[in-house]
Amino acid sequence: MASGETASERRLKGRCYCGQARFEVADAFGYAANCHCSQCRRTTGSAFKPFAGIERAKLAVTAGADALLIVGKADNHDAHCGRCGSLLFSVVRDGAYVHVALGTLEDAPSIRPDRHIFVGSKAPWYEITDGLPQFAEHAS
Ligand SMILES: [Zn+2]
Ligand SMILES: [Zn+2]
Repeated sequence: MASGETASERRLKGRCYCGQARFEVADAFGYAANCHCSQCRRTTGSAFKPFAGIERAKLAVTAGADALLIVGKADNHDAHCGRCGSLLFSVVRDGAYVHVALGTLEDAPSIRPDRHIFVGSKAPWYEITDGLPQFAEHAS
């Protein structure tokens, strides 16, 4: 159990499309957003990527760890299932945090994406129709 984690902290399960890669993460995300940047669009094949951020130590890969496809560097990368290619999470902020792709979660997190970021590079064919705050790049 990671330091700072309490025994009562809820754990969420997540997995890739084919099921080879599985992970668990504490239901203790610090922030969540919908990212419209071109990288998130391409890695997910979607208009945007809903994700949530948490300290890296609070996420554990429980299956398929040896076969993950790592795109990037040790402290800044996207982690995909090595078989089906699902994007599971991104290691960010020099390795201190992970951004979990919320679409891979089997259990619903307590947090909800509350903003749109990198709207300046969003897909022209997608219209944001909710009232959440929008930021051209990172939320200020
Ligand atoms: Zn897979
Ligand atoms: Zn992005």
